[in-house]
Amino acid sequence: MADIELRNVTKTFSGGVKAVDDLTLEVEHGKFVVLLGPSGCGKSTTLRLIAGLEDADTGEILIGRQVVNHVPPQRRDVAVVFQSYALYPHMTVARNMGFGLKMRGVPVAEIREQVEKTSRLLGLEGLLDRFPSQLSGGERQRVALGRAIVRKPAVFLLDEPLSNLDAQLRNETRVELIRLQRQLEGTFVLVTHDQIEAMMLADVIAIMRDGVLQQTGSPEAIYRRPANTFVASFVGSPRMNFVEGTLILADGNPVLKGDLTLPIQEMIPALEDLAHHAPVLLGFRPEDVRVSSAGEVQMKIELVETLGSQKFIYGTAGHGQQLTVGVDPNTRLATGEVVSISISTQKMHFFDAKTGTRIGGSPGDLARDC
Ligand code: ATP
Repeated sequence: MADIELRNVTKTFSGGVKAVDDLTLEVEHGKFVVLLGPSGCGKSTTLRLIAGLEDADTGEILIGRQVVNHVPPQRRDVAVVFQSYALYPHMTVARNMGFGLKMRGVPVAEIREQVEKTSRLLGLEGLLDRFPSQLSGGERQRVALGRAIVRKPAVFLLDEPLSNLDAQLRNETRVELIRLQRQLEGTFVLVTHDQIEAMMLADVIAIMRDGVLQQTGSPEAIYRRPANTFVASFVGSPRMNFVEGTLILADGNPVLKGDLTLPIQEMIPALEDLAHHAPVLLGFRPEDVRVSSAGEVQMKIELVETLGSQKFIYGTAGHGQQLTVGVDPNTRLATGEVVSISISTQKMHFFDAKTGTRIGGSPGDLARDC
């Protein structure tokens, strides 16, 4: 059952900005859905439309199978947690958390019970008598979450809730969020521009660009089969490599011929039509390239990036083709060195060079279940 459904929803702001453009999206009950995309792509507007804080120009918004376009926010059974915690500074943690229930006329004893239960869930028991100014950023964030949880809404809407936290706390809070969502068995929709956060938290990622939904799917599916070059470059760090060329047969073997000439696994069916020399973009991820003396491409290293458990080399091949390659962190490589590299023919992605739309992938990769 879809807890939330958006059917052809469009929202244009004054000035003509189409923040959300014909968006159709289903969020199943109990799923953690992440709206992902660059700044200004319309993710927050989508969340605000679901919350009822913005009105859709066209289209329908359903929560629990009911059309809610004209239902005010407070009657939508959703709780919103924003990036800015917006806690009441003059209220203690306990009062901040219980305020929503108090406004709904819930008896004091029940409020106390809910607040205590939620504070245990979030590790806030010792802080209930403190004021927001006496809390760290992470603690305030948890209070904001707690304030949403005590209301027991059907749907949690979270707008970049972790972006004010430092890297370590953000990581810890992500893990807590996943645990919390499982415990509450709630439907969570979270907005972020951080693809790592999306990959870590989501059951389903919905990735947007300029108000338009680009792809929905599991993190694995989005990573393995990006629908277009935008998704392919937005998800994955460092980003996917792209090489333009045409697919031809050289001595009976399929190759991509462009600035670089690269062997491909076989002329996969979707590409056969393109064998008449339409330009394609070949995409491959840095981790699907290896340094090998038998490699078919010579690359001059311009930068070595050491990230502890990972190492990446950045360089150029051919006539200025920029490439990024993941290497064993123990490999000793230096700027200025020329290395041979080999690209896995099993992990290639092909896109239409004009539109950026995916036209196929290596058969080996397509066989993966995702
Ligand atoms: P960010 O990650 O920076 O918050 P976002 O993906 O959440 O971005 P939105 O806040 O949804 O993007 O904004 C989408 C577009 O709509 C942007 O171009 C933004 O400038 C515009 N926009 C948002 N709110 C309004 C408003 N109230 N009036 C006019 N334009 C707006």
